[in-house]
Amino acid sequence: MPGTLYLVSTPIGNDGDITLRAIKTLSDVDFIACEHIKAANVLLRRLSIEKPIIECFGSNRLQITKQIMTRLNQGESCALISDAGSPAIADPGEYYVRACLALGIRVVSVPGPCAAIAALTVSGLQTGRFTFEGFLSKAKKSRYEHLEGLKNERRTMIFYEVSRKLKATIADMSDAFGDRKVIILRDLTKPGEDCFSTTLFNAKSKYDKPAKGEYVLVVEGYTD
Ligand code: SAM
Repeated sequence: MPGTLYLVSTPIGNDGDITLRAIKTLSDVDFIACEHIKAANVLLRRLSIEKPIIECFGSNRLQITKQIMTRLNQGESCALISDAGSPAIADPGEYYVRACLALGIRVVSVPGPCAAIAALTVSGLQTGRFTFEGFLSKAKKSRYEHLEGLKNERRTMIFYEVSRKLKATIADMSDAFGDRKVIILRDLTKPGEDCFSTTLFNAKSKYDKPAKGEYVLVVEGYTD
């Protein structure tokens, strides 16, 4: 009988956010597939877990997929972890989920931290209906098309951004959406975490220099 792929969420900045089930799953599986060995080793050392690890988010994806699927088909179990948060959210985890499902291999969620949900829930914006937009493309044309397509979106929108592109992203959002409420969350769950509730136009003047940290932007949906 084939084994199981467990999608194990890991902390996004605070070690205390690992769940009891995540620890048990990481301890029980035959092997762990991770985004970067270095980040996985830091986590596993803290949890005193020793397991065979395969780095699976690199360029040799086809070869690694074959290796992982073969082991799962032979009955082994695997925990998939990303560097932080929920695997398959804004990382290539979804690729492994699809590969398993296509082969009839069971995929089980071991839920936990996710930066998008953490940000949304403290934003104060409407949480009843929301849309996760991930990262905007680096390419000017697709960034523009993405934002233009969201101009009339009424649901609260969640974006991920890296610090070096924050300034440009806020400027592009201001151009596309006009002045709207935006909540800018930096380094959630980390010691210097910050939640800045403002508008896109104000944010544009505040973030006029390159920023530091990891960011989620929660943007108010369109209102008449
Ligand atoms: N899978 C992860 C999750 O569940 O949130 C997201 C992975 S994605 C490659 C990394 C991005 O998530 C960062 O660039 C940032 O936008 C966001 N992020 C991750 N940790 C964060 C944190 N502690 N505070 C704010 N944003 C964070």
